[in-house]
Amino acid sequence: RTSVRVMFTGLLIVQKYGGSSVADPEKIKSVARRVAESAAQGHRVVVVVSAMGKTTDALVALAAAITPTPDPREMDMLLATGEQVTIGLLAMALQSIGYPACSFTGPQVGLITDEVHTKARIRRISAERIGAALAVGKIVVVAGFQGMTETGEITTLGRGGSDLTGVALAAALKADVCEIFTDVDGVYTADPNVVPEARKLARVSYDEMLEMASLGATVLQSRSVEFAKKYGVPVHVRSTFKPDPGTLVTREDDSMEEVVVTGITHDRGQAKVSILRVPDRPGIAAQVFGALGAQSIVVDMIVQNISRDGFTDISFTLPRADRARAEQVLAIVAKDIGAAGVAADDRVAKISVVGVGMRSHAGVAAQMFAILSKDGINIQMISTSEIAVSCVIEDKYTELAVRALHDAFDLAKEP
Ligand code: ADP
Ligand code: ASP
Ligand code: MG
Repeated sequence: RTSVRVMFTGLLIVQKYGGSSVADPEKIKSVARRVAESAAQGHRVVVVVSAMGKTTDALVALAAAITPTPDPREMDMLLATGEQVTIGLLAMALQSIGYPACSFTGPQVGLITDEVHTKARIRRISAERIGAALAVGKIVVVAGFQGMTETGEITTLGRGGSDLTGVALAAALKADVCEIFTDVDGVYTADPNVVPEARKLARVSYDEMLEMASLGATVLQSRSVEFAKKYGVPVHVRSTFKPDPGTLVTREDDSMEEVVVTGITHDRGQAKVSILRVPDRPGIAAQVFGALGAQSIVVDMIVQNISRDGFTDISFTLPRADRARAEQVLAIVAKDIGAAGVAADDRVAKISVVGVGMRSHAGVAAQMFAILSKDGINIQMISTSEIAVSCVIEDKYTELAVRALHDAFDLAKEP
């Protein structure tokens, strides 16, 4: 009996398909054909998939119908079900067109995380099981967004977390590329669904992409970009429905520095919370933000007003999803420190201007404020980083602000 040794001459590719790409059985079949195409070219393929369509949103809504403050462990138990549906279906679809495939959940591939439910961080991945399946010629299908703690509790990686699963698997397997397949054909100068004139970027640096992602460009989860940068994983964002090349997220080069503003982002996922009439004395901020930190609630922008007669207001933004829990915690803290109360506002949006060229160019912030004021848009909060300026404005002006900035910074034009 002769044994056949399979020689792989192709690449090792991780492909991630988002929710809209696997929204129904027809789309799953078409994803299977696309995956099969890569396998037929001699590549070893690991596929990461999201939950079908808006499944995760529907699961979040189900939980909200039970309680406004679901237990995070139970939330993960619920959310992790979404991706498990897709992996089973995609593996079946691949098998039915003649490609051996095998699906695995996050825990099954040894994706180990910390204990922070609903936004767990990856500690390590033991790629053995995937390696073994690839070695016998199978296409491996992995559930995105989910993992397991050291003690076997199911966790999820934060919204958009399938991107992170894809990038982390690519790093662990030393894959040649991580392809992020989605409903747009790349990373644009602004959300193309808001700004029709937005331009597709051929390349974008890890730092810019990280800033854009953390400031609201949902096309990639920010943690996945952080991870890609850390391990040097080349990420290719491209369309599920079109064959054209998309955007390469990669190391920065000199030509990127020449562009001052690369993109405009908006984030509607935040809420503004204020603690009213706080006694202005040392230790108060530590108490307020310490209490939120203890609940793993990450605060973003913070503004403390000038104190009048010994009292001040402290305002800050946080993820809308954490608002109810934050209000619960803060109600207790407010009483403790003798503040007048807590007010929350969901009708806010954060608009940002991003570009690595801002490191060496002054004046972008001033320009941004001028553009917003021309449209009568009031700025509620401001923050800056080395390569971005952000403003919190009233939610209803979001589209207007993004379009006005995109236009004024002339982003539709090739630099
Ligand atoms: P998936 O389900 O594939 O993960 P997402 O909805 O998470 O897809 O991300 C794709 C969406 O990201 C696009 O439909 C688009 O509306 C949005 N988006 C926001 N900012 C940008 C940007 N700068 N470039 C491209 N897409 C963007
Ligand atoms: N299904 C999860 C979400 O909607 C993870 C993902 O799609 O990346 O956030
Ligand atoms: Mg996504």
